Amino acid sequence: MKCPFCGKENTRVIDSRPADDCSSIRRRRQCDECSKRFTTYEKVETIPLVVIKKDNNREPYDRSKIEAGVFRSCHKRPISVDQINAVVDEVENIIFNLEEKEVPSYKIGEIVMDKLKNLDAVAYVRFASVYREFKDVNTFMNELKKILDHEHV
Ligand SMILES: [Zn+2]
Repeated sequence: MKCPFCGKENTRVIDSRPADDCSSIRRRRQCDECSKRFTTYEKVETIPLVVIKKDNNREPYDRSKIEAGVFRSCHKRPISVDQINAVVDEVENIIFNLEEKEVPSYKIGEIVMDKLKNLDAVAYVRFASVYREFKDVNTFMNELKKILDHEHV
């Protein structure tokens, strides 16, 4: 491993430990030439996942797109950033456990809706209205009614 400070290749590992989430190893290295220290992370190589969009075009899976959608739906709702991250983690876990190389975007949307439904009705309806592109107020109201009815059961 090349030293990021002086560019020499005489560096050695002085400490090795699992990172916070145990999905990576954090290594402290020291350069024998300039004595500076730096950190490297070792991770399992993840299989690239491709999302099939509605127009049938493909794009690389991007967690930040799900995050952005969930954040937008949770705007001004009593939901913490931790809760949002937990939802995105759950969604991501499900997606990756499908063990498919290509996942249609509608499937991802359904999973997100499913998780949001348990979290916050308003966030769910907001997300669903964007996702399912409700054409009119009636469709929107029907969806909302379904949730409200469900809550009163
Ligand atoms: Zn160096």
